[in-house]
Amino acid sequence: MRDIIIIGSGPAGFTAAIYAARAELKPLLIASSVEIGGELMNTTEVENYPGFPEGIMGPDLMAKFQAQAERFGTEVVYDDVVELELDGPVKRVKLGSGEVHEASAIIYATGSAYRKLGLPEEEILSGHGLSWCATCDGFFFRQKTIAVVGGGDSAMEEATFLTRFADKVYVIHRRDSLKASKIMQQRAFDNEKIEFIWNAEVTQIHGTEQVSGVTLRDTVTGELRALDLDGLFVAIGNDPRTHLVHGKLELTREGTIHVEGRSSRTSVPGVFAAGDVIDPFYRQAVTAAGTGTVAALDAEHYLAALAEAPSPEIAEIEAEAIEEAAAVENFARTR
Ligand SMILES: Cc1cc2nc3c(=O)[nH]c(=O)nc-3n(C[C@H](O)[C@H](O)[C@H](O)COP(=O)(O)OP(=O)(O)OC[C@H]3O[C@@H](n4cnc5c(N)ncnc54)[C@H](O)[C@@H]3O)c2cc1C
Repeated sequence: MRDIIIIGSGPAGFTAAIYAARAELKPLLIASSVEIGGELMNTTEVENYPGFPEGIMGPDLMAKFQAQAERFGTEVVYDDVVELELDGPVKRVKLGSGEVHEASAIIYATGSAYRKLGLPEEEILSGHGLSWCATCDGFFFRQKTIAVVGGGDSAMEEATFLTRFADKVYVIHRRDSLKASKIMQQRAFDNEKIEFIWNAEVTQIHGTEQVSGVTLRDTVTGELRALDLDGLFVAIGNDPRTHLVHGKLELTREGTIHVEGRSSRTSVPGVFAAGDVIDPFYRQAVTAAGTGTVAALDAEHYLAALAEAPSPEIAEIEAEAIEEAAAVENFARTR
């Protein structure tokens, strides 16, 4: 049996692995079978990760995370977790291959997924003018014409934020009214760089190496039209990857895993969570890495406390002795 199994190979999982491995806990990290390295594998230049003043490509950054985790003894398995048993002192992790691994502590760092438009061009143009994160990529769109797809609070926030860089920001929304809160709507309506395109959906993204525009379909008339753009931001929602822990761990209203205060402790002892799967707001590589650290330190303390606790047999004898003493005391009191 292992001390720690870490699920997820993004910034949170690998950072937890670096700390756990350096604490000599010999972590096993389940990286997934296809999406190894997490969300940053889908982007090009990362300019806001500290320590890389010239910027670094997302996949190169994740290769460094992995090399650092392996350098200290992390074992990486390229498979998906398909089932979890989290109750009790022995946690069981079943993989796609059918293999089952056991550990005293689990760090759950499966991230979250931005909702996509469902267009084939998304795979090719991600990081090439197509983005899901204004905080991450807004800087690349100075004096450009861009569009944000969506009608909720995050779409309004992204559009308003992007006007710091872009000359013009279209908001493309498939209805004629917004879901966003009144205050966020008003902020966007008041911004003269923002123009709303109502009752429209994107049916195609143009460009081979870089986004050059989109085809819009009018949701009322069905009419098609082209719109020239330098960039497109998709802000139609984000889903934390929690399907494996539904009914096992407490979730928040936003659908992320609930953790106690600033810790990584979930509702089940010995199970810790980190990264975007606990974070409905910030969702950055550096914040994911930060909570990965927290999870490794919390798990380390948990394992140390377990090691100091009496073995289950001794605990049982002690519990029986306490029960007997209470019975004797009770008997004496009733005489
Ligand atoms: C296009 C794009 C560009 C971005 N650019 C930036 C940027 O420039 N700067 C920045 O700070 N942030 C950026 N972000 C955000 C950043 O990528 C995330 O905040 C960060 O990756 C979250 O880290 P994480 O470890 O929590 O999750 P993720 O990176 O999502 O990693 C989760 C991992 O868990 C694995 N996993 C999930 N389920 C299972 C399973 N059942 N079994 C095994 N493994 C599983 C996944 O395959 C994945 O490897 C960007 C995001 C996107 C989408």
